[in-house]
Amino acid sequence: MANETDYTISGEKDDSLTIAIILPCLFAIILVILMAVAFLLPKLTEESAETKENRRKKRLAALDNTIKAQHYVDWASKQRKEHPEFPVSMHPLCVICLDEIEDASQIRGLGCLHVFHQACLDDWFGRYNEYCPLCHRPIVGGKQLKKKTRASSDSDTPPVAFFV
Ligand SMILES: [Zn+2]
Ligand SMILES: [Zn+2]
Repeated sequence: MANETDYTISGEKDDSLTIAIILPCLFAIILVILMAVAFLLPKLTEESAETKENRRKKRLAALDNTIKAQHYVDWASKQRKEHPEFPVSMHPLCVICLDEIEDASQIRGLGCLHVFHQACLDDWFGRYNEYCPLCHRPIVGGKQLKKKTRASSDSDTPPVAFFV
């Protein structure tokens, strides 16, 4: 009987000891994990922000390659020569900022003959807007899309021919 009580007492002591050791350890581990997450999360978000900025720069470079920024006067005189049927107004409205486009404004004229301030269109395109704000035709990459669909249709045809 005496032995049994000893065991139970020692067992209780072990339990309290393990609780006294394990619980603080668990708290310490959780704290370390929380601190690690707190340190890593800002770095991860910073990296993603950097890659986003890089992607934005690449997009804007692609835009700059296809649609050159120029003064509105130069663009307008060129369009009047190339598209005499298209009425090019003297001071059109930039629908992005709703401000008038002056002769000396730096603009980008799209293939659809819609004109926007360079800064406005860059901001618009940099926010992953692929289409003209007015007529929804693709700003850049219309040709690339066509190539992709052709490639996919080519890869689709061989199995059909194989079956026939
Ligand atoms: Zn504008
Ligand atoms: Zn347009």
